[in-house]
Amino acid sequence: MAGNRTLTIIKPDAFGAGKAGKIIAHLEQQGFKVLAARVMRLTDRQAGEFYAVHRERPFYRSLVTFMTSGACMPMLLEKRDAVAALRQAIGATDPAEAEAGTVRKLFAESKERNAIHASDSDDNGVREAAFFFPDTDVLAAQG
Ligand code: ATP
Ligand code: MG
Repeated sequence: MAGNRTLTIIKPDAFGAGKAGKIIAHLEQQGFKVLAARVMRLTDRQAGEFYAVHRERPFYRSLVTFMTSGACMPMLLEKRDAVAALRQAIGATDPAEAEAGTVRKLFAESKERNAIHASDSDDNGVREAAFFFPDTDVLAAQG
């Protein structure tokens, strides 16, 4: 059964441009509840590990540089069928291809500087939540 939690990151382009409040309001309006949040600047090592699945892709180095370029805002979100719901809400990777009303259509600059991350599966959501919120007791009730 699909879980009710997912991990998102407001990326440095959007956070640095002062769009975090609008993005959170947009997500809350769609029924997402913020369970945990933090503001941090990722180290090269953290960003590299977080996106390790893309290690062999041509954009990997550039992605890590972008993700470490300024503060970002990881958040643990709750909603029914959260992973699918958030992927729907953020839209396609490239804002030029994202549907109207999605976070990326509204707030992203480009395919790389695309405002927001969302977990792509329940398993990755649990792993990514633990990556940013290892001490959060809400995680104990995961599942
Ligand atoms: P995310 O994992 O951040 O939620 P996604 O699942 O939509 O995004 P992925 O294919 O997992 O997309 O790529 C991870 C991130 O790498 C993208 O969000 C984007 O910032 C960057 N990226 C992906 N493809 C490209 C590309 N062709 N050129 C530049 N950057 C890219
Ligand atoms: Mg992805």
